[in-house]
Amino acid sequence: MDPFAIRTYPDEILRAPCAEVTTFDSKLRSIVDQMALTMRIERGIGLAAPQVGISKLIAVVDVSEEGDALLALVNPKIISKAGKVPSEEGCLSIPGYRDTISRAKEIVVQFQDLEGKQLEIKADALMSICIQHEIDHLHGVLFVDHLSRLKRELFKRWLRKEGLEFSPPAAR
Ligand code: ZN
Repeated sequence: MDPFAIRTYPDEILRAPCAEVTTFDSKLRSIVDQMALTMRIERGIGLAAPQVGISKLIAVVDVSEEGDALLALVNPKIISKAGKVPSEEGCLSIPGYRDTISRAKEIVVQFQDLEGKQLEIKADALMSICIQHEIDHLHGVLFVDHLSRLKRELFKRWLRKEGLEFSPPAAR
């Protein structure tokens, strides 16, 4: 199995809304396996399907140090949020850029597993932040969309330096 190629900013697929997964078959399993492989090779702690060119509600996360605690989230939805925490983030789709934004501290997320079974977990700390970052991707939202106005100007300056176009947040 080869890893997927990572789509990078300002690729339009990163802004496209994702379709719900309705078929829980071997094809879904193989997409998830390939996403997990890609995430590990790229040394990420999370990866969303649009980042590999697939507009479907699928994300993988693994925040463990050993990289042996894969969680696949199919059709995930955050049903509650609590608290606020500063979060320094980067993104495999925006290589070379990191900044600090604000995220909910704790979340409850509903999702389906690879068999289509409905599950619900409570997450905090890095797991909570990672899941929020990946679910954002599934709705065309990037962590840089959460930057303050001042920081967004710094981001635009960085983009110009890199020779990249600014990609505005999708209208919601
Ligand atoms: Zn990302």
